[in-house]
Amino acid sequence: MKNIAIIGAGTMGNGIAHTFAQFDYNVSLIDVSKDNLDKGIATITRNLDRMVSKEKISEEDKKRTLGNISTFTSLADGAKDADLVVEAATENEKIKLEIFKELDSLCPAKTILATNTSSIPITKIAAVTGRPKQVIGMHFMNPVPIMKLVEIIRGYNTSDDITNQVVELAKNLGKVPTEVNDYPGFVANRILMPMINEAVETLYNNVAGVEEIDTVMKLGMAHPMGPLQLADFIGLDVCLSILEVMYEGFKNPKYAPCPLLVNMVRAGKLGVKSGEGFYDYSESKKAEKVSSQFVS
Ligand code: NAD
Repeated sequence: MKNIAIIGAGTMGNGIAHTFAQFDYNVSLIDVSKDNLDKGIATITRNLDRMVSKEKISEEDKKRTLGNISTFTSLADGAKDADLVVEAATENEKIKLEIFKELDSLCPAKTILATNTSSIPITKIAAVTGRPKQVIGMHFMNPVPIMKLVEIIRGYNTSDDITNQVVELAKNLGKVPTEVNDYPGFVANRILMPMINEAVETLYNNVAGVEEIDTVMKLGMAHPMGPLQLADFIGLDVCLSILEVMYEGFKNPKYAPCPLLVNMVRAGKLGVKSGEGFYDYSESKKAEKVSSQFVS
């Protein structure tokens, strides 16, 4: 595999493009928004500059990496010669199903179609294509150039051959691919989201405050970040929507989102991106100050 098309130039798409390009794949980065493509390339450039200043890569590596990336606003132009497409567009089922239908009609028969979705079933996405054996989940973690894990999600019909090819490819990117089956939340979110939800429930039940809950999990369980801070970092709306997918998918009340999480999302308190979640980010993006509504 040499030609990789990445769909979506947002948080994940630009990180995935950066990673493939750094390992000398030809990358076509595609987004409906020219502005987001420009922002994506600016982010990749900034991240490469940081790597140069830390002497992790040379100035030459940076130039080569940027030279491996072309940008497109048309799916047809960007994906028509792809050996592999990695879709990292907005987490919206309708958008993703439309993209996969179009990819299926415009990509060569050999092209593997992967998605970076956090919660939409791979089998559902595969079902809108005529090549369900070649549709697979490649769930990268944020920030992509740094995080080693790639969850490789086999849809119901994904073939062994395609899974093995994608596993090998992830290894070529210096990642640690981990194979999982296609059930709600896959593995990462199935375990992480109930933990975050339980931390919110613990706060909601007034068992302890924000800092106390995060301190217990940081110092007691050696987590680098407490669950409430992590929820702010991921986005409370994203956490809520993944919990809802699991709640719906399993029909099991253990995944029901805590009413406090629901209320905070309704109130626009989404975490770092909105400036406030469990912590206040109006002065710094670090979780230094607990949001005023939780200070008793
Ligand atoms: P984002 O909002 O930062 O970026 C999404 C990009 O997709 C935007 O630039 C948007 O213009 C573009 N887009 C929307 N519709 C499009 C279309 N039809 N064709 C081409 N581009 C289109 O989103 P993100 O956080 O990068 O998430 C992308 C995917 O990765 C989602 O499926 C999400 O669930 C998944 N994911 C996110 C994270 C995370 O931490 N952010 C982690 C793992 C997986």
